Amino acid sequence: MIEQIQEIFDHYGFHAQINKYCEEGTELLEVLKGYEYGETSRDEVLDEIADVRVMLAGFQCGLCITDDEIRDRMEFKINRQIGRIKKEKECQSTEL
Ligand SMILES: [Mg+2]
Repeated sequence: MIEQIQEIFDHYGFHAQINKYCEEGTELLEVLKGYEYGETSRDEVLDEIADVRVMLAGFQCGLCITDDEIRDRMEFKINRQIGRIKKEKECQSTEL
């Protein structure tokens, strides 16, 4: 599958893929908003998540970013956010 994603990315090029990502990202946001209000289905959300992930995989290939690099960065960001949540909870408990 990764070879096909690379082929798509190479065929259309970086600039076109940015524009396509904007389109796909907007579609995902729209179906998520719709899902929140019961207007779109889980399957429609799944479809748009797949579109966005294909786009992201294309950028990952195009920029030669490894899965390990992404995993490490995700781990850092998740831990940072968990730290923020803990601080928020500590502040809330001291305010009571
Ligand atoms: Mg789409």
